[in-house]
Amino acid sequence: MVEKKIAATKKTTTNKKVAKKKAPVKKAPVKKAPVKKAPVKKASAKKVTKSPATIANNKSKIAPYKAKKKEKYMSVAMKKHFVSVLLLWKEHLQDEMQKTFDHLRTKGETYADPMDRASQEEEFAFELRTRDRERKLISKIGVSIEQIKQDDYGWCEACGDEIGVKRLEARPTATHCIDCKTLDEIKEKQLNG
Ligand SMILES: [Zn+2]
Repeated sequence: MVEKKIAATKKTTTNKKVAKKKAPVKKAPVKKAPVKKAPVKKASAKKVTKSPATIANNKSKIAPYKAKKKEKYMSVAMKKHFVSVLLLWKEHLQDEMQKTFDHLRTKGETYADPMDRASQEEEFAFELRTRDRERKLISKIGVSIEQIKQDDYGWCEACGDEIGVKRLEARPTATHCIDCKTLDEIKEKQLNG
């Protein structure tokens, strides 16, 4: 027996269709096929995917350090905290660099259209600059980690003062206190202006 694919037609039309159908003279008892309610399988199963942004955030964030009362500056715990911050940041940057590298490699084909080529070159130049910045930052992070090991981290290279936890939290690779940094910037402006 050929199974009619009635299932495909809409359920609501069933009655109308029966009515419209010109009934044969001989009324044979209409055998209603038992309506099998097949479990509705939805093709679109919900995919639980983490957005890349969330992953990146989790990776690059460590809760700011909470110093205990009377805790001395650059205590062992504090140093450990900054090592973790620096390492995590480095890892994040290395991931970013790898992404840039993959992108440059996979999109390396050249376009025939000069306009396309120009915009591609611009894009690549931008990515290379980003990569270069990331590379320099990674090397700075390495220096900072080394300074922590040498017990030399967190002190201003110009005046010897504390750089401060707050500033280091915002810029873990800072080598100068905010005063010296500001002074440097003013001097630089005067030189260039
Ligand atoms: Zn200073």
